[in-house]
Amino acid sequence: MIPRTLALFAHPDDETFGPGATLAALGEHGPSALLCCTRGEAGSIDQSAKIGKSKLAKIREEELLAASDILGFDSVEILNLPDSGLRWLDPETIVLPFVRAIRSFKPHIVLTFHENGISRHRDHRTVTRRVGEAVTLAADGNAFAYLGKPHQVGRVWWYSIPDSKAAQFENYRSLASVPDADIQVTIDLRSHVQKKWAAVDAHATQKLFVENMAKFLGERMENYWAFESFVLAQGEPPSTDGRVESLYEGLEEAAT
Ligand SMILES: [Zn+2]
Repeated sequence: MIPRTLALFAHPDDETFGPGATLAALGEHGPSALLCCTRGEAGSIDQSAKIGKSKLAKIREEELLAASDILGFDSVEILNLPDSGLRWLDPETIVLPFVRAIRSFKPHIVLTFHENGISRHRDHRTVTRRVGEAVTLAADGNAFAYLGKPHQVGRVWWYSIPDSKAAQFENYRSLASVPDADIQVTIDLRSHVQKKWAAVDAHATQKLFVENMAKFLGERMENYWAFESFVLAQGEPPSTDGRVESLYEGLEEAAT
């Protein structure tokens, strides 16, 4: 089967600093599309905040395009919604572009952050809520007919941090994590971690965040960075027992 992957995120760098290696692998296996809600103009990492919002937005847009090339995305769309203000928007401002993207791209799988927001950023949590609404609406033939024919996404995966990994950060930083037992899939991505690092480099204004994390974790960074974990949010779980090797395993029959 050739999987079609749609990634829905709030900010430039979420796709890389989150499931970057998974997306790099999926980008090699089939068509992949990225929809990013903002241009990241509220970024505060390193010198970001001093650059000025409109200039920073332009730089981060270019960084996102470069990173997306490395991760193998076939298309990238930026909605240009207000960074750090997504929760204040009318839900349809986000849901409608998501429904349109789902119906036009027809993904088997959709990736976003866990509803806990990972870094706890409110934009992340808002996007995850809107993804859930959009996936349901995209499959509903009575909803928004003008946005295209209904499409049923096979699975929605939430990129998640297991408690055991979050614990390695000790007091360095607080990540929203989930019990290890709640994780359905952990993928060994050592074969794609170099692409993830290259995409981090492309996010030049933000990469200090990852570099500092790597400094803190030392040799634990490889494990943190090359193994990515997911919780199934919507759709049928993979039919096989035990360890699951891919996010689209068993979806062949459901593919449309
Ligand atoms: Zn973010």
